[in-house]
Amino acid sequence: SLKKQKSKANKVCKLETKNGPVVNASTLPEDLKRHFHYTLGRDEVGDSPQYLYHALALTVRDRLMEKSRATKKLQQAQPTRRAAYLSLEFLMGRALGNAVLNLDLEDSVRKGLNQYSSELETIADSEHDAGLGNGGLGRLAACFLDSCASLALPVTGYGIRYEYGMFNQSIESGHQIEHPDNWLRDGHPWEVAAPEHNRRVKFFGHVETYQDKEGHTHRQWVATEDVLAVPYDVPVPGYQNDIVNTLRLWKSAATDEFDLGEFNAGSYTEAVARKNLAEQITMVLYPNDASENGKELRLRQQYFLTSASLQDIIAEWVKVHGNDFTDFAQYHVFQLNDTHPSVAVAELMRLLLDEHDLDWDAAWQITTSTMAYTNHTLLPEALEKWSVRLFSHLLPRVLEIIFEINARFLTEVACQWPGDVDKQRALSIIEEGDDPQVRMAYLAIVGSFSVNGVAALHTQLLSEGLFNDFYQLTPNKFNNKTNGVTPRRWLAHCNPKLSQLISDKIGNNWTRDLSEISKLRRYYDNEKFHAQWQDVKQQNKQQLADLVKVACDVEFDTNMMFDVQVKRMHEYKRQLLNILHVIHLYDRIRRGDTEGMTPRCVLIGGKAAPGYFIAKLTIKLINNVAATINADPLAQPWLRVAFLPNYNVTAMETICAATDLSEQISTAGKEASGTGNMKFMMNGAATIGTLDGANIEIRDAVGADNFFLFGARSEQIATIREHYNPTQIIANDNNLNNVMALLNSNHFNLFEHGLFQPLIDSILNEHDQWLVAHDFADYCKAQQAAALVYQDKEAWTRLSILNTAASGSFSSDRTINEYNNDIWALTPLSV
Ligand code: PLP
Repeated sequence: SLKKQKSKANKVCKLETKNGPVVNASTLPEDLKRHFHYTLGRDEVGDSPQYLYHALALTVRDRLMEKSRATKKLQQAQPTRRAAYLSLEFLMGRALGNAVLNLDLEDSVRKGLNQYSSELETIADSEHDAGLGNGGLGRLAACFLDSCASLALPVTGYGIRYEYGMFNQSIESGHQIEHPDNWLRDGHPWEVAAPEHNRRVKFFGHVETYQDKEGHTHRQWVATEDVLAVPYDVPVPGYQNDIVNTLRLWKSAATDEFDLGEFNAGSYTEAVARKNLAEQITMVLYPNDASENGKELRLRQQYFLTSASLQDIIAEWVKVHGNDFTDFAQYHVFQLNDTHPSVAVAELMRLLLDEHDLDWDAAWQITTSTMAYTNHTLLPEALEKWSVRLFSHLLPRVLEIIFEINARFLTEVACQWPGDVDKQRALSIIEEGDDPQVRMAYLAIVGSFSVNGVAALHTQLLSEGLFNDFYQLTPNKFNNKTNGVTPRRWLAHCNPKLSQLISDKIGNNWTRDLSEISKLRRYYDNEKFHAQWQDVKQQNKQQLADLVKVACDVEFDTNMMFDVQVKRMHEYKRQLLNILHVIHLYDRIRRGDTEGMTPRCVLIGGKAAPGYFIAKLTIKLINNVAATINADPLAQPWLRVAFLPNYNVTAMETICAATDLSEQISTAGKEASGTGNMKFMMNGAATIGTLDGANIEIRDAVGADNFFLFGARSEQIATIREHYNPTQIIANDNNLNNVMALLNSNHFNLFEHGLFQPLIDSILNEHDQWLVAHDFADYCKAQQAAALVYQDKEAWTRLSILNTAASGSFSSDRTINEYNNDIWALTPLSV
């Protein structure tokens, strides 16, 4: 039979060489065999589905490659403006299921796997998440790539191929333990290396002046230590439209010449050490979400990505146009995902000035008409600054250009506000002081033609607050682009049962145009539809319950309300408020006050930055509270609590399909947008939340009656904080008083007295900027309101249907269309 297989495979190979590759749905089962038996040299599936997964990935990749080639040809035939999305993070998750959906290959893949008596779901489970991001910002970039390809927009993603992605989290004795994420260990079948496009990135050295033949003075960055940037291309399929865009991820490597001189001079060890230094740049993702890092290696990563990507794009331009950059800005736009790649403003200037001989004004004209900046946070601790000292050591020529940009900009400021030195100081890209700093957000704003926030409230707060001076100077730059999520991964792929039910009723065009999902409203009161909707939810809840059982050894009962908060652990997201409410429910149960109580399973999950003490302590508290409650027979019928370890994209795919109540409870004004909130809504969860970020728009879309609102409003926060007295709030609130008494009595840490004192202190602190005590009572009220609606099964089902039906504008297709209409101005490829 091996002979037969070989001859069949040979036939396929011959066909490929004669007529060009034949890779379509019907040849898929044969191709799968070929990859399994010949590319990987396997005979049987055996105990490890890993090889079959790998063979299937290669088989699907063949089809992606074909479409990618065709897309590139289309782009060459229709040379139009294109965008580069620059991001230090792309939280892609798994690729197989998404590619199978977007290429419409499910039937043939199942047929192919049938040959090995294997199920797609089992095989897909072998794939490691590509966790090249922390949370919302990185996952947004991934959703945007899906939408750009699905809308046939010529957009390339540029990022870093971290050897180690977001750490894996385990929980030991209730504490978070971090483990390196060696995601490339079994290979990454989706990527293709493109060493013919290697770029050199400069570091260190110094700047010299020289004169050319015509007597013009130039600056030259010399004696640099260069690092090679090697691109790996990951295909990004559009949804059933034959478009495949590219995500180009850079890996750092030592340049070839590193060894020659030093090897020969006998400095072998030093030379190899230098090689390691070069390779360190892309070794690991910094696991900090919404806080800056300040480490030199991080600045190196930022410059490495930025310089390699800009050089890449310029090299393509020069191939066709030589050093004529007259039309460059007409054909290019660069979207900066937060300030992380914002050194691009100075780097593009450097490349144009130093490497391509443009004068300052021409280079500045190009830079400021191609750069666009997205701000992702108002939190001061997340606003990136780099010490001038570090900058001048690592990137001396780039710093020189930043100084010049600043000098020219401050002249404009002086014209706008004559004689106002304070204004100049406030707006300067360089912050004065003992250790002067480069303010990266200011560099991004000054160098960009567009500055956008990621939800209406966030953009308003940016314009009125943080960046108000810049807003006054250039109001037209500022615009809002409310985030979105792709309905392909976050409904069609992750919730196939609900998707089928929806398509049975309203057709399946919602996968392309999510605004059509509003047609579901017609069925919001239909009894038969209610039963089907409930049935799907029950099945999804069972899947999550199975996951929780394996991961946490906690029994979730699918008849209870699933109340879920999954996101990065952060004080502003207030997981602490959530667990205080859980303790309050427990206190009620212990006191026998269960009237009107709805049985619920509370799930909390998320990673804390490894150095973030209070966030890690919150994880420990949640685990201790969970252990106490789950061990108490009295609580069993009413309350189950679990902390899910290692929350990631793949976990969210199961979680959002199964959730009844979505917790979006940040202190108002602190969450820029949120995107988890949108995934839950799309899958029919109701939200309990504050008026923060995109919650506001979610509530507007679904209607105030269908959203459980609580808490201080953003405009009230400053006044509340003026006279904030948490001790008095606790004294006046029996419920909170009981909760604090339990915490103070070490009820959840009987053998580690005082363990949670820092959390208790944070609640009691008059400067608690997260206002946990302030919002507690209102939160409990909203929780009770949700619990009561849940007891009316039909009312809750209506709410659930209405949430999905109102989620149309939270598709990232809508967001990307807005980016394109207002910022990018790209023409979709006509296929
Ligand atoms: N992490 C993962 C794995 C996600 O899928 C998401 C978004 O849904 C986030 C983080 C961001 O969540 P949130 O918007 O709730 O902070």
